[in-house]
Amino acid sequence: MITRSALLFLARQEKLKDLAASFGFFKRMTTRFVAGEDIDEAAAAIQHINELGCTASFDHLNEGVSSIAEAEGEVAEYLAILRKIDEIKIKSNVSIKLTQFGLDIDPELTYRNARAVVAEAAKRNNFVRVDMEQSAVTQVTIDIFRRLRDEFDLNNVGIVLQAYLRRTYDDAVELLKIPARIRICKGAYNEPAEVAFPDKADTDNNYIRVMKLLVSSGTYHGIATHDPKMIDATVDFVTKEGIGKDKFEFQMLYGVRRDLQVQLARDGYNVRVYVPYGKHWYPYFMRRLAERPANVWFVLKNMVKG
Ligand SMILES: Cc1cc2nc3c(=O)[nH]c(=O)nc-3n(C[C@H](O)[C@H](O)[C@H](O)COP(=O)(O)OP(=O)(O)OC[C@H]3O[C@@H](n4cnc5c(N)ncnc54)[C@H](O)[C@@H]3O)c2cc1C
Repeated sequence: MITRSALLFLARQEKLKDLAASFGFFKRMTTRFVAGEDIDEAAAAIQHINELGCTASFDHLNEGVSSIAEAEGEVAEYLAILRKIDEIKIKSNVSIKLTQFGLDIDPELTYRNARAVVAEAAKRNNFVRVDMEQSAVTQVTIDIFRRLRDEFDLNNVGIVLQAYLRRTYDDAVELLKIPARIRICKGAYNEPAEVAFPDKADTDNNYIRVMKLLVSSGTYHGIATHDPKMIDATVDFVTKEGIGKDKFEFQMLYGVRRDLQVQLARDGYNVRVYVPYGKHWYPYFMRRLAERPANVWFVLKNMVKG
């Protein structure tokens, strides 16, 4: 049986990235989770998502870039996305990863690159979500986010926290003081027990604790999960506390639990779908397989079918 950590290990293998992309059948499998290779394909997927009553967030896949030119190319891509959103009037913001803007090269370069995208979003009254990556970069990600937030409005830049990290509740308390718009998710990387809860039950308990803190704070946050237990806990809590459905949003990934996305939107909740696209899909795709090893069998079955 392929384990979560084996899949997450494979996700980090740079050489497999190119090998996987060269297999047409593997690439075809990604279409469930990845909305295409360019902005136009992702925009078409978002138009459909909007028609179903949900908003979206563009994510250009390309993490861990290792050259300054590539990081600058990512800035250009995001400026083009922000233009496209206004041009065709779709309901979407953008999500970025700091390793995409050069975090493995130089934090100052990363700050400047992220700043260029947030400034453009602010000009267009849009919003940039800074995704959270491995625990090795949690602190620097928060530090860069704080600098951006100092300069830009609450509704122009936000951050992500991961419930599996032991530090997250304290981070949420501190970030709410600014205040900051936070997306809470469970966390998608392989982390050691010193920094992350090894037991899923502890992550779930922490998720619910942080969710309650967020939705009670009066700031608009994102509750990102496909887990019916987390969703029910949120619905129960906001109903009991009399917190309006418009005071937060549920967030889910493209291709995961579409039924639930539409159902929650029909029930009057704000739902945002995170829409990844691009050629560098390998690590993202492998993390999705790791979340649900049953998806591996789905991929293998289709490989055999050719
Ligand atoms: C909008 C959004 C943004 C995110 N941003 C980040 C981020 O910045 N940093 C980060 O570390 N992580 C991020 N994640 C990923 C997140 O951390 C989890 O890895 C992922 O959401 C799975 O956790 P879960 O809450 O859905 O619950 P789980 O306990 O993993 O799953 C609960 C149930 O959801 C369904 N499900 C979950 N995943 C899948 C899947 N891949 N395929 C099919 N069914 C599935 C299954 O029915 C499963 O039983 C994000 C997730 C979302 C939804």
